[in-house]
Amino acid sequence: MPLALDKLRAVVALERQKLFQNTAVIGGLDKFLSNWAVEATAGITDKSRLAKFKKFTASFNYAAVPMAERTAALDRFVAAAEALEAPDVTSTPIVAEVSDPGYSVAASSPKRSTPKPKITAPLRPGSLELPVTAFKGINDTTAVKFKKLGIENVRDLLYHFPARHVDYSRTKRIADLSPGPEQTIVANIWEVRLTTPGGRRSTETVLGDETGNIRAVWFNNHFLARQLHTGDRLVISGKVTVFRNTLVFESPEWEKLEDKELVHTGRLAPVYPLTAGLYPRVVRKLMKEVVDGFAPSLPDYLPEEIRQRRGLIDLPQAVTQAHFPSDEASKDAARVRLAFDELFFLQLGVLARKRAWQSSQPGAAIPTDQALLDRFLRSLPFQLTKAQEKSLNEILSDLNRTEAMSRLLQGEVGSGKTVVATAAIIMSIAAGFQAAFMAPTEILAEQHFRSVTRMLELLATETQAGDKTVSHLGILPDRPLTVALLIGDAKESGKTVTRNRVKGGEIDLVIGTHALIQKAMKFKKLGLAVIDEQHRFGVEQRQNLRQKGTNPHILVMTATPIPRTLALTLYGDLDLSVINELPPGRQTIKTRWLKPEQRGSAYNFIRKQVELKQQAFIICPLVEESETVQARAAIAEYESLKLETFSQYRLGLLHGRMSAAEKDSVMGAFSAGTLDILVSTPVIEVGIDVPNATVMLIESADRFGLSQLHQFRGRVGRGKEQSYCMLLAENPSEVANARLSVIESTQDGFILAEEDLKLRGPGEFFGTRQSGLPDLKMAKLSDVPILEMAREEATRLFADDPKLKKPEHRALYEELIRVWPQTGEWS
Ligand code: ADP
Ligand code: MG
Repeated sequence: MPLALDKLRAVVALERQKLFQNTAVIGGLDKFLSNWAVEATAGITDKSRLAKFKKFTASFNYAAVPMAERTAALDRFVAAAEALEAPDVTSTPIVAEVSDPGYSVAASSPKRSTPKPKITAPLRPGSLELPVTAFKGINDTTAVKFKKLGIENVRDLLYHFPARHVDYSRTKRIADLSPGPEQTIVANIWEVRLTTPGGRRSTETVLGDETGNIRAVWFNNHFLARQLHTGDRLVISGKVTVFRNTLVFESPEWEKLEDKELVHTGRLAPVYPLTAGLYPRVVRKLMKEVVDGFAPSLPDYLPEEIRQRRGLIDLPQAVTQAHFPSDEASKDAARVRLAFDELFFLQLGVLARKRAWQSSQPGAAIPTDQALLDRFLRSLPFQLTKAQEKSLNEILSDLNRTEAMSRLLQGEVGSGKTVVATAAIIMSIAAGFQAAFMAPTEILAEQHFRSVTRMLELLATETQAGDKTVSHLGILPDRPLTVALLIGDAKESGKTVTRNRVKGGEIDLVIGTHALIQKAMKFKKLGLAVIDEQHRFGVEQRQNLRQKGTNPHILVMTATPIPRTLALTLYGDLDLSVINELPPGRQTIKTRWLKPEQRGSAYNFIRKQVELKQQAFIICPLVEESETVQARAAIAEYESLKLETFSQYRLGLLHGRMSAAEKDSVMGAFSAGTLDILVSTPVIEVGIDVPNATVMLIESADRFGLSQLHQFRGRVGRGKEQSYCMLLAENPSEVANARLSVIESTQDGFILAEEDLKLRGPGEFFGTRQSGLPDLKMAKLSDVPILEMAREEATRLFADDPKLKKPEHRALYEELIRVWPQTGEWS
């Protein structure tokens, strides 16, 4: 209500300034006043006041009032409106009465006008588990919506941080706006209309404050008209441009202002990540209550000593300031403390795991057979890059030790990780051990099988190929080197035979998918396990593999660029090798994001490339997670392209529902150049290597994450010819638009990873959910100093009190158990 009054007063003031011409509001004051009255009376429960006001407004007609009497008329209107406002009729405490004395509701005097926190300290243990439904206004239906955000109780709410803050202290008045970048106003909507500038169906509003009016236009967005209403109070933020001599906001950010208190108490008002059906108003109100009521008595588990040493603020302050900061500096201090906590716990968990591994049985040392290694490297049609050499040396020196290797080999798509891994595999086998090579998909397992056996062929004097096994003679002095492919698709009997041969030690290298870590899989003497594309394998899978042999050496490969510090933190149990250069002669892939109407020219471009004897990929849309549905969509796309668009060319189809043999033959045909165009579902994602393929068209590119698009794109540009990637997106969201511009403008996997992180959050990005790592909400990829701080403190604490048994670490211990329940090593 006071908010509505402010608005009314602002309009009256403007009308006065404009000399009572009835022009303060476009369309005249009467329209505004009647809208205003509806809004202002919505929450009024006092019937007699309401009736009185309604009677007054019914007879009010500003347009009919003679000019000289208009000032008095407006004063009367304002007075009537003010009379409407009763102290506290509409304000009700949001916290329901609960019988637990630990959070009893404080008695509040009805006369007091400033609301007080409704809950008193101290907090009882368990209070943080108080469900959201304990709060007034949160029923079961609303609770379900909160649950979608991962919020079930008070703790979750406290840790549901704002996506950003709006700084209302820096808003401008409309009269002070000038053409230029990012400016913010708080204004009323005076009019909303649909327009079609240049045929684009757009939403246009006229906004006003006490200093004037301005238009805001959202091009190509006529849906917005439904969400904005005359009389709404908005915060508008964006670029101001000049159009036909007047200022206009072009597609600004906007937000409805519904909660007066937030604007006035915090100059930095929180904006929460929401889900459909949760109103900002509801969430903000609840947040304010919960933060005021619970944050001050949060127990701080971080030892005082660490807090002092690092200059970190305490937890109650940090949580409070993260939501409702008093200023920018407090907001930053809060984020530092909370980010520190996240990374600190992460590091403690990682250290615990590393300790567990180190204390398990030692691995076996694998010496380097230098003569064989040289022979292998000489047999390759290229020279290793410096970065490949360095990584290989790091790996070989790990293998030389009895402490089992845990190394992450990181390198861009196409940087040549597989060759390096193959060299390590050969060394293990030469030393009398078996090796396992695990890929995330069957297609990739098959491809690795092909490329590894091809490399071994160069080294061998003779090769004997069987069904899914290849034996190479002349590599080992005394016996053939046998490689087998084991994938889920093979006949059960065939798999059993292979498994038995692995168990009996007849097979030196087995390449496959998850099948390799299943129970049925037994090795005679597993020395080295290589895992490709780590982000699909969780920590548990790694652990499973560890149990397969006498604690084998593990090499994990990833094309996901992770900054070193973060990699060491998240995979603190892994050492890191980086291949940071591509083999010479690689080209940048020209990437274009096309408008839907440019589909025809995309097809023409593909035709041109095919005429030049190049090959093309067409990636079908990601329909949904189900492979079956995706397969169906891909089949339809394939059929129609084959019949019409590309009827003169040889088309192939690849999808996840095909048998391994079918996929194999299609991939084989594409590799051999007997297919011109390969239509594929996203199964093609990682690692497929066909140098003659120079063009890729990605359908519904907006549906994919940046890293994924980057991976797709890495399928072309692997040969000498200039390569191209075209992206099509029918109806991209704003976020998707941003993403597509990024992928169009850079080929730097590191930048793409950072952007992806921003969009998806680190949890999902690193697969930390599946690996059981806690989620990072506050910590950012760029938080290197905080990371280092957390690492040092965790290491120090761990050295001092590894089991956290000291009394001063009690609270920390309990929090750790909560954050890392699966890390059993604590007790
Ligand atoms: P990654 O697994 O890192 O994506 P691959 O190991 O599959 O990369 O290598 C990509 C391609 O580059 C392969 O065809 C491989 O034979 C080739 N390659 C690897 N290293 C070199 C090098 N040093 N010089 C030239 N080509 C190389
Ligand atoms: Mg690869």
